[in-house]
Order: sequence, then C-alpha cells, then structure tokens
Amino acid sequence: MQSRKSSIGSLHERDARVIANIARLRFSPLCLVGGRGNHLIEEGGRSLLDLSASFGPAIAGYSHPAIIAAVTRACASMAGTGLLSHPNENAVALAEDLLRLTPGGGDRRVWFGHSGSDANDCALRVVQAATGRSRFISFIGSYHGNLSGSMSISGHPAMTHTLPRAGLVLLPYPDPYRCAFSADDVLRLLDFQFATSCPPHQVAAIFIEPLMADGGLIVPPPGFLLAIQQRCRRHGIQVIVDEVKVGLARSGAIHCFQHEGLEPDLIVFGKALGGGLPLSAVIGPKHIMDHAPAFALQTTAGNPIATAAGRAVLQIIADEGLVERANRVGGILAKGMRALGAKHSIVGEVRGRGLAVGVDLVTDRVTREAVPVMTTAKVIYRAYQLGAVFFYVGMRGNVLELTPPLTLSAAEAEEGIAIIDQSLADVSNGLVSDADVAPFMMW
Ligand SMILES: *Cc1c(COP(=O)(O)O)cnc(C)c1O
Repeated sequence: MQSRKSSIGSLHERDARVIANIARLRFSPLCLVGGRGNHLIEEGGRSLLDLSASFGPAIAGYSHPAIIAAVTRACASMAGTGLLSHPNENAVALAEDLLRLTPGGGDRRVWFGHSGSDANDCALRVVQAATGRSRFISFIGSYHGNLSGSMSISGHPAMTHTLPRAGLVLLPYPDPYRCAFSADDVLRLLDFQFATSCPPHQVAAIFIEPLMADGGLIVPPPGFLLAIQQRCRRHGIQVIVDEVKVGLARSGAIHCFQHEGLEPDLIVFGKALGGGLPLSAVIGPKHIMDHAPAFALQTTAGNPIATAAGRAVLQIIADEGLVERANRVGGILAKGMRALGAKHSIVGEVRGRGLAVGVDLVTDRVTREAVPVMTTAKVIYRAYQLGAVFFYVGMRGNVLELTPPLTLSAAEAEEGIAIIDQSLADVSNGLVSDADVAPFMMW
C-alpha cells in the first residue's frame, strides 16, 4: 500500500507537526498505512502483529470482509445521516439486536452515540435528570471517557488535570495483587459514606467497570461487585455497567458483567461495537431513557454506516464463535505469559479474562513494587521493533495490556508470546536506551 505524500517528511514527522498532543497517545514511532486480519502495516510496508486491537475497537481485526460489505452497502445508498432526523433500518435493527443480546426485564430503550465517552456522558445526564439525584459513585483508577461528563466521574490518575464533578464519591477498586484495600474495606467505606457524608438518597448511580481496564487490568475479587450492587439497589441507586473496553465477547463471555453476576440497570457499549467505526450505545429502562425529548441529540448518531458495522460485528461474534475463541486463545496467551515469569523476574502477575490479559511488571516479586513507567515503555518499544503492537495501562503505568483482535489465532498468540519474551530479555540486557523511549511515556 502506498501513502500519498501530501507533505514533506515521514508520517511520524507530519503527525508531530500537525496533530494536537491532547488528542494522541504514542507508544512507539509506528505509523500506519493499512491493516489486514490481525496485522497492522506500517509506513514502509512492514507487517506487525496486533496485540491491542488499537485499544479495543478492532475485535474482528482489520478489513474484515463482512464489515467491508456491510459498510459499503450502507454507504452506497445512504438512508439519511442519522437517527436524529429519521429512523433507518440499520440503526433500528441494531437496537433490536442489542435488546435481544442484553439481559434486563421490562421496557427498555437504546441510545446511540459515537464513542464510549459520549455514551457515558449520556448515561450520566439522563440518570441525573430522571432520578432527580445529582451525586455519583465511581472507582479510583476507572476510565469512563474524555468528555466533560464522562471525565468528571473518571478516577484514573492521568485524568487529574480536570477536577471531578462535585459530590462524586471515589472508591478504591480492590486489587487482589496489591491489597491496599480489600473488598471488605471498600464495602465498609461505602457503608460509612452512606451513613455520614453521602446520604444514599442523593446518589443517582454508580459507574462500574466489571474489569478495570485502564486502571491496570484488575479483575475484581469474587462477589465484590455483587455486594456493591446489593447496597446500591437498597437505596434506589442505578447500576451503570461500562462494558466499553471489555464487553462483547472479549472477556470470554458475551458481557463481562456476567462473570460477576451483575444485573445492571444501564449498560454502556463502545469500542468493539463499531468494529473500528465510531459507535456507542446506552441501553436502559424506558422510564429513564425516555426522560425528555431532545435530551441527548447528536446529528449523525445512529448513522446507517456505523450501525451497519455494529450489526456486522454482532454477526461476526456469533458466526466466528468469538466468545469461545476469546476464552480459548486468551487461555493460551495468559498461560504463555505466565510461563515467561519463570525466565523473567520482572513479570509480577499475569491476570485478566479471555482476551483481556494484563502483565504486571515489578522490580521485586516480594514487595510487588511497580517498575518505573520508563521500563514498561521500553518493553512496548522493543516489541514494536520486533514486530508486535500493544500498549501499557495501570495507575502506575506498569501493566502491559494485551487486548488483541478476538480473531487472533493460537499460532499468532504463540508468536506474540515469543516476541514479548525476546523484548523482556532485550530490555533487561539494556538494548533500549532511556532516550529511545523518552517521547513515548504517555500517561
Ligand atoms: C475507552 C473507554 C471509554 C471511552 O471510550 P472512547 O471511545 O475513547 O470515548 C469509556 N470507558 C471505558 C471502560 C473505556 O475503556
């Protein structure tokens, strides 16, 4: 594939010259000219194994024929530009699909947006308006988006440039590996908040990541989220589950919240739903989602192209058995990464569900002290040089995040493990310098 040189310099240089820093995370000099299957093609033509799905959306890899066909059909005869002005078949049918796919009693409605951020914004605003309550609960380390609403209830340390919304209660998310707070500690803290500074009748909703993704791929201790849900239910607090990162088959279940036995009032989808096109959804009870006309309008939301992609994604998940595949290939990936622990003492813990695998890097396995972010950045950078793409997450920037396309094959998983093995060895042997990664320590 040929990139059209509309300006002087490599894509990497041009990116630095014109794209706002506030809009990008860069973990390596990788610049793309294409993608096919589970591989990305960089400027110059080299093909790299994708172990990140570009932070999640590419669950069916790149250029999947069923998505190309669906989008091409929708594009060739545009039924308007979005749901705001007219109904269109793709959007209405996708809403019907999503209602069939998600548990929940009673009359429910679907809202479409373009991103996980706008969907969480919508959920926040509509729940506040419909319940007449204005306080929210979320977790330290959580990431719900980058718009004013979704950012205001996010507890990720990289988001502290913007103040949380007034009245927000941020709870620790119990991390079984670094047990600063146990599940019981957090439940006691919540009870104490309810009894003192945060009367529960003031709380509209709690935002829950059923597996904390950007906070460090943290799997909650069994029963913790269910206990949180029980406490919230008692007080009429809506349970909003953010499935944006780990939903739609990635966790080895169609919905990640199923692992926890949750029964959410509202469910938020994004990333994977569009298979790479901008698409998000909120599903919730009619009495909330129908709160008032013209309440959460976006002109091109529910457009026939993005929703065609959404329908194709759901079809691919079913046709290609991606739930089972996430379990099976995720098991291979996690097992291979755990085996690397025998050779590399930097591997503290490997955790996750399905094809959401986190590798917690430590300086010392006994104290479990996180490696400096520069070390994580070096592993990512070296893996890029060796031909694999993934990023890091975590409140300390020390967790390798492996969230590949769910179409990843067992052989590709093994290839990824071998590259990470080599990368860990090369970094510990000093092959990557501080200067190499200085521009790539992003958050
Ligand atoms: C990425 C993410 C979001 C935000 O989605 P965008 O599409 O980037 O706006 C929200 N919640 C979670 C859990 C995410 O991982």
